[in-house]
Amino acid sequence: MKKIYLLLTLCLSSQTTLVFAQSKDPVRKDPVVESIVKEATDNSQLEKLGHELMDVIGPRLVGSPQMQQAHDWAVAKYKDWGISAKNEKWGEWRGWERGVSHIDMVAPRVKSLEGMQLAWSPGTNGKTVTADVVILPDVADSVAFQKWLPSAKGKFVLISMNQPTGRPDYNWQEFATKESFDKMKKDRDVQTEAWANRLKKTGYSSRALPLALEKAGAAGVVMSYWSKGFGANKIFGAYTKAIPTVDISLEDYGLLYRLAESGHTPKISVRADAKETGISQTFNTVGEIKGTEKPNEYVILSAHFDSWDGGSGATDNGTGTLVMMEAMRILKKIYPNPKRTILVGHWGSEEQGLNGSRAFVEDHPEIVQNIQAVFNQDNGTGRVVNLSGQGFLNAYEYLTRWLSKVPEPIRTPIQTSFPGAPGTGGSDFASFVAAGAPAFSLSSLNWSYGTYTWHTNRDTYDKIVFDDVRSNAILAAILAYQASEDPTKTSRDKSILPLDAKGVPGAWPEPRKPTRRGGLD
Ligand SMILES: [Zn+2]
Repeated sequence: MKKIYLLLTLCLSSQTTLVFAQSKDPVRKDPVVESIVKEATDNSQLEKLGHELMDVIGPRLVGSPQMQQAHDWAVAKYKDWGISAKNEKWGEWRGWERGVSHIDMVAPRVKSLEGMQLAWSPGTNGKTVTADVVILPDVADSVAFQKWLPSAKGKFVLISMNQPTGRPDYNWQEFATKESFDKMKKDRDVQTEAWANRLKKTGYSSRALPLALEKAGAAGVVMSYWSKGFGANKIFGAYTKAIPTVDISLEDYGLLYRLAESGHTPKISVRADAKETGISQTFNTVGEIKGTEKPNEYVILSAHFDSWDGGSGATDNGTGTLVMMEAMRILKKIYPNPKRTILVGHWGSEEQGLNGSRAFVEDHPEIVQNIQAVFNQDNGTGRVVNLSGQGFLNAYEYLTRWLSKVPEPIRTPIQTSFPGAPGTGGSDFASFVAAGAPAFSLSSLNWSYGTYTWHTNRDTYDKIVFDDVRSNAILAAILAYQASEDPTKTSRDKSILPLDAKGVPGAWPEPRKPTRRGGLD
């Protein structure tokens, strides 16, 4: 038998070998598991869903019209698949719609610049504003800064450090001499500290400085939040209330900075359109496949739906969203009568502090008390490689049992850690853990997430690795199936947490209040 197997292995293509090897795997004997894998593989909807969500709707900033479109789109998708779903209101947020950002250097020469206004930035009221660019000065103290402030009037002010290199460290590591790399890092450290000091000496916090410039009559605030990778900048929210705050790519920001520094007085033109849309209602989209035997016990598939809006929120958290939608679609088709109720939660405003999921936990104690398991995914497009028991004493027992049903190529790379420590934040599973419900994070291989896509202008459709997302959808569907079928309710016993460095016993996290009214002060 072994000889024949070896011979076959040698003769067949690697893909066929995989299938052959899998057929010896006990999990393949479960017809539901087999059908889940087959549906996910032969009839994947991931590319189509990804295109509709990331390309057609786009980024999903809390309070934006696109966020609302996404909620309505998800409900319509679920209805198409025969899954009941609704948008559940949990709060209100400042409504804002991103329009165009055009930034051009017009002196000493002409160049269109790569940049955009930050989220919630005021626009330029339909006009193009042209003004000189100046660098935030290095003053002696806050008194000197107050003296300088009037000279910001009518100027665009650069408030970020000029990075000494636009090459990521991995690129230096590969090509620089050791001496040269070390020298660059040392210089950069010195410069970074000096810039932090320059900001400090203004007497303003990073939040208050843009407002002080605005009050002094500046034309706009210009910054560059480099994400340490080629072409990648992080795009967060503006603090100004009347003048635009724009982020410019490292390359173009450096150009402006050097020209200003050498006395060539660069001038830029900025046109930023932004629409205040009043008070927006904020929602979670919740879908449900009703349980047949234990309808009041819940398995929850979880992924936040909102995003920052520098890119299209493809890996944060478009991919987690796709995983859970696809898993639900497959479950409805293959396993339409689960024992327990299977919910999917597409939470709003995770990025501002897990607000949608915290609100859900607060609003639905009857569900939270009866959760069998929550599976959340929210750290990029990669295959799941880590699963922690989140401090639940007996999680090892049920999680490893459920995992044993997952096909070998998906299961084997997953490192489990038990009991693990309860997550205190980072994503929505933490909202449930804080309420004592067994909630877990399906944690991904990083695919340079932190550098290239997390909250950046490069978080776009093309960064999605569909094979990995497909593998995660299969995993999520099988875990939900197994959690639903389990004859026993999961234990919520908590482990005792180790003493910290000061000898104080670790404490389990407590539920925290969501912000139900945001950006409206
Ligand atoms: Zn996220």
